[in-house]
Amino acid sequence: MKSHAKVVVIGGGVVGASVLYHLTKAGWKDVLLIERAELTSGSTWHAAGGMHTVNGDPNVAKLQQYTIRLYKELEEISGQSCGVHITGGIMLAGTRERLDWLKMAKARGRYLGMELEMLSVDEAAKLFPLMDKTHFLGAMYDPIEGHVDPYGVTHAYAKSAQIGGAEIVRQTRVTDLTQRIDGSWDVITDHGNVHAEHVVNAAGLWAREVGRMVGIELPVLAMEHQYLITGDMPELVGKKEQLHAIDFEGEIYIRQERAGMLMGTYERAGVPWSEVTTPWDFGQDLLPNDLERIAPSLELGFAHFPALESAGIRKIVNGPFTFAPDGNPLIGPVRGLTNFWVACGVMAGFSQGGGVGLALSQWMVNGDPGADVWGMDVARYGDWTTLAYTNAKVRENYSRRFSIRFPNEELPAARPLRTTPIYEKLGEAHAVFGDYCALEHPLWFAPSKEEAVDHVSFRRSNAHPHVGLECTGVRDGVGLLEISNYGKFDVRGPGAAEWLSKIMANAVPKVGRIALTPMLNERGKLIGDFTMCRLTHDHFFLVGTYAAEVFYMRWFEQHLPPAGVTVRPCAMEYVGLSVAGPRSRDLLQSLVRDDLSTAAFPFMSFRRMAVGMVPAYVGRVSFTGELGYEMWVTTDYQRALYDSLTVAGRDFGLKLFGGRALNAMRIEKNFGTWAREYRPIYGPTEANLSRFVDFSKPDFIGRAAALEEKESGGALRLVGFSIDATDADALGDEPIWHDDKVIGWVTSGGFGHRVGASLALGYVPTALACAADGFEIEIIGERHRATRLAGAAYDPKGALMRV
Ligand SMILES: Cc1cc2nc3c(=O)[nH]c(=O)nc-3n(C[C@H](O)[C@H](O)[C@H](O)COP(=O)(O)OP(=O)(O)OC[C@H]3O[C@@H](n4cnc5c(N)ncnc54)[C@H](O)[C@@H]3O)c2cc1C
Repeated sequence: MKSHAKVVVIGGGVVGASVLYHLTKAGWKDVLLIERAELTSGSTWHAAGGMHTVNGDPNVAKLQQYTIRLYKELEEISGQSCGVHITGGIMLAGTRERLDWLKMAKARGRYLGMELEMLSVDEAAKLFPLMDKTHFLGAMYDPIEGHVDPYGVTHAYAKSAQIGGAEIVRQTRVTDLTQRIDGSWDVITDHGNVHAEHVVNAAGLWAREVGRMVGIELPVLAMEHQYLITGDMPELVGKKEQLHAIDFEGEIYIRQERAGMLMGTYERAGVPWSEVTTPWDFGQDLLPNDLERIAPSLELGFAHFPALESAGIRKIVNGPFTFAPDGNPLIGPVRGLTNFWVACGVMAGFSQGGGVGLALSQWMVNGDPGADVWGMDVARYGDWTTLAYTNAKVRENYSRRFSIRFPNEELPAARPLRTTPIYEKLGEAHAVFGDYCALEHPLWFAPSKEEAVDHVSFRRSNAHPHVGLECTGVRDGVGLLEISNYGKFDVRGPGAAEWLSKIMANAVPKVGRIALTPMLNERGKLIGDFTMCRLTHDHFFLVGTYAAEVFYMRWFEQHLPPAGVTVRPCAMEYVGLSVAGPRSRDLLQSLVRDDLSTAAFPFMSFRRMAVGMVPAYVGRVSFTGELGYEMWVTTDYQRALYDSLTVAGRDFGLKLFGGRALNAMRIEKNFGTWAREYRPIYGPTEANLSRFVDFSKPDFIGRAAALEEKESGGALRLVGFSIDATDADALGDEPIWHDDKVIGWVTSGGFGHRVGASLALGYVPTALACAADGFEIEIIGERHRATRLAGAAYDPKGALMRV
């Protein structure tokens, strides 16, 4: 084994091999993969090898498409067969809701260029005769599905990487990692040490152990997973290879394996494997079968596909593989550790491994993943992902793998975990809670305890009228919202203003003022949006998306000067409440001595004030589009602030409102939000944020690219629509049609209660951004006429916020 390498990849499963190959492809040749045993000695060797392009996150779906297309390239380079069988696949719906879900998946696939097709039950049965039609209502067909040989794929990556210059060392275990002062790593193995500039943790089932070598607890857990292979089936003799099928209600997947069928299940009573540590002596081993556990799924499987029952069981496989709490991979650089990368938690290695390798290698070589990988970024998790939290969430995710997640559905596992001091008080007011970063926050308020439950649906739900009353209550009077679930950052020091000016695209505000600002990467793409508040000459308070706290901190720390500025995340130190609506000033004025008139405290002002007895940061800013104030207080004061506002609020008709109403109101205002309208695939001009970019500053990150985008107009443009919809609104990810062609996609949608219209925000090509008509938006498989709005649906001039 060589003693120095630019990169050491730990782990020779399908993911590590893919990372290695992609690094060589990106031009880094001095790369070494270290494998404890033989290649595929983790979860890879016993995988069923199934692959498909459909994924809930369109950006992950794109990387899955890439992975499947890659196999041909690998075979050509390596001469190693990947054993690719593209059979096509059908997803079977046994309920009306599932059929709706499939229609939505098909619609989403349109703008990804996927050729998905809805089928009647008869059409499905023609393609897949093993099904008993009586259990199903319809299906969706995907021509690009199939399976590969896990061994072949891993070796094809490995050989291609070796041809590209990589080295692979087998039978060598990494036992420790120590970092040198310059950020490089000593990789300690049982066969000597390697000095590496970068380390990639692709240790699959042992990713946690490798993480612990550098002091981190990665949120991954292995679950046992069983599939069986039937005996030979006469029904298959002389027929072309059967399609892949997913039977959602049966919670099973099924495909042909030689002359029989392979059937696997994500059973409800899933069992984690090695909950705390993974044994090093586990290798190409299987776990004992437990047919009892999957018996309910098998029973359904045999009922839905009767020929399987008589075929008998030839083989059962029970093997572990890892999941992150949301089921998506964990990739990227780990905050706080120089040159330490992860590529783990990949639960669908044969659909996702290529995309993961591509994105990670681009990130390492170019400093940017080259694609929108937010849904897979390791930085989407924070401190709350303890071992026990991960355990509860992974079990839940596994058991729901084939369940529908409704847009208004909140999942119950690991809750309540994080609460603010007013949690009980909001509960007494019949709040229906959601969790965001494991923090409970009110979504809407029901009139009674009994009604405080969401009836899950793709259509307008039981919450609709109550959310409507919250919105009109804000419009006509004053509403109170808990806003603790934002990320907050304390930035201070003599160099703070200069640093913020460099890292943020907008001008740094004067003392006592607020500026909204995008944060851009070098490519001029959006990697954050912040409310930047200036308390003193050298002290700033930043508010941004909480889920991106680690993501932001990673970027901040990478760009901090050696001295003069400190940045501290303080989300849970400062919790918040906001009041909004035309009477919000009167309410707040009744509690503060400061003059809140527009002359004295205009829109976008920020100041320390005492609200009643509570010391608070108060900002005059609005995400509802109404006159409004945000108050940030240390956690110990939140209860007193809430009490003061609600008691004083009685004279002003104060109404509590929640996150659903806020979302509806911000859509009426065309206000975007992180991970929906603002993502690293869009630039500020495209996202209509150029008014928040100060090009008069000579230097800020992304300036040149953003200027170029501004001059060219960008490829896309965010526009607002009102839709002729009746009982279901757009949610996000629906296709936007123009003159019978899919030309864009919705980023957010909902009902605008203040304007009485179904609304959506979405991206269209810039050339069509001013088209007068011809738009349609597809909601649950039906195209609805959509009218492009020239500005915000509500108060387009923004006068109300400024009164
Ligand atoms: C029963 C079953 C069926 C499945 N079916 C499918 C399917 O149909 N389709 C699909 O896409 N996926 C399927 N999967 C999941 C798939 O197997 C995983 O997504 C994939 O194997 C993940 O690969 P990996 O490289 O991340 O991890 P692993 O395969 O676990 O590889 C990690 C490697 O790292 C090595 N290693 C760990 N620690 C060290 C160390 N300290 N030093 C050196 N080497 C180390 C290990 O020996 C191992 O070889 C299935 C899994 C199971 C269990």
